[in-house]
Amino acid sequence: MNRGKSDPVQHEVESFMQGLKKRNPHENEFHQAVQEFVETVMPYTLDHQKYRDACILERMTEPDRIIIFRVSWQDDEGNIRANRAWRVQFNNSIGPYKGGLRFHPTVTQSVLKFLGFEQCFKNSLTGLPMGGAKGGSNFNPKGKSPAEVMRFCQSMMVELHRHIGEDTDIPAGDIGVGAREIGYMFGMYKRLENRFVGTLTGKGLTFGGSLVRTEATGYGTVYFTENMLNHVGDGIEGKTVVVSGSGNVATYAAEKAMQLGAKVVSLSDSSGSIYDADGFTPDKLAYIKELKEVRRGRVSEYADKYGCEYLDGKPPWSIKCDVALPCATQNELDGEHAATLLKNGCRVVAEGANMPSTLDAARQFLDAKILYGPSKAANAGGVAVSGLEQSQNALRISWSKEEVDDRLKSIMKSIHDQCVRQGGGENEHVNYVKGANVAGFIRVADAMIAYGVV
Ligand code: NDP
Repeated sequence: MNRGKSDPVQHEVESFMQGLKKRNPHENEFHQAVQEFVETVMPYTLDHQKYRDACILERMTEPDRIIIFRVSWQDDEGNIRANRAWRVQFNNSIGPYKGGLRFHPTVTQSVLKFLGFEQCFKNSLTGLPMGGAKGGSNFNPKGKSPAEVMRFCQSMMVELHRHIGEDTDIPAGDIGVGAREIGYMFGMYKRLENRFVGTLTGKGLTFGGSLVRTEATGYGTVYFTENMLNHVGDGIEGKTVVVSGSGNVATYAAEKAMQLGAKVVSLSDSSGSIYDADGFTPDKLAYIKELKEVRRGRVSEYADKYGCEYLDGKPPWSIKCDVALPCATQNELDGEHAATLLKNGCRVVAEGANMPSTLDAARQFLDAKILYGPSKAANAGGVAVSGLEQSQNALRISWSKEEVDDRLKSIMKSIHDQCVRQGGGENEHVNYVKGANVAGFIRVADAMIAYGVV
């Protein structure tokens, strides 16, 4: 990844990034996601002239369209409030647009462009017919009453419904958008369209949702971790695991790691981290889920209740572990954190969150040749089961829990194997970043070439 100035690949990457930054000023998260991608894909395009002739990288880094709109709503005191919302429809070459909606005060166009860009290649890796998109709003659900959240979701859908559809664009959840918000949005969509179709995924089980969708991203991340370990003749059983976050992805990653015999010692939120040296139990995890999902409290309450250590205002990366699963948010793990993890003997990092490692952190993991599963590959289980939810909706059937879980496992294994093919040989160290980027790229790029210049 770190090449000298005179390296022709590095020269191409730098000149490409210069143009991209000029065209998209101040979009730091988007720059970061593209930089990580082109560093590994540029050498492949230099070896395959057809991609250069078709100007694929330039076209792929330009979204098909971005819809930006106002969401007006009324709070419980009767005050009128206005938020900004977006849908970034990035690329639908291999299927209808698909990607989550995020409600968080830090949401900007740059954040949604980075997420939409990565979504294209993640969806491609699943092998399912799904293009890439992402959307959301700078609305902060924290401290809002359920009635306020409902009014916001309904107002959001009044505009969004014009741009989505079961064959056009299928949104799902992400940070701040869980089963409750999907329910409110799907209810309004159904009312406006007068049609019951699977235009949103992550729906409740009584109205078209799929079994295992709630668990899929976290479970999938751990299946991917197990695949990486199995590839080097090891397994997650008996390993000490540190997880960040305490939302949907984090809690189900912790649950699956525990089911497979690992000892999970931390979870966190935006206020701090808990360190339970004895490891979580199913009862303790149930307490966390209720605390975060129902009472919407802070993880510090867990530390008070169970008398364990609390790292106030800090992420959990100083805790000694074999496996780290960052499952909270982008750039939550920087170069200093990566150095500490490596110094403490961590040998596996699998990203449940999207782009949780900074470029510096990612470089250190690659240079140390640990098992490093980037988000595009490691957290693709969520969108994969969303794709399975779409199939069940279209066929008007429901698969059993075992059937969906088996399909999830086999999709994660197939993603792993694609990474091995493109990122290393059978007996070599696997660069999973290169493997995921190149394998994800090929499917999208070949479809774009087949369409000609459109
Ligand atoms: P949730 O809203 O359920 O949980 C988010 C968690 O991350 C919370 O514990 C939250 O803490 C914490 N968090 C948010 N922002 C920060 C921050 N700035 N610093 C530290 N902690 C923070 O979201 P999800 O679990 O759904 O999503 C987590 C990550 O996984 C995101 O990167 C998302 O894009 C990615 N992802 C999610 C998928 C899904 O299916 N849900 C699919 C693929 C990827 P607090 O309670 O304090 O806000």
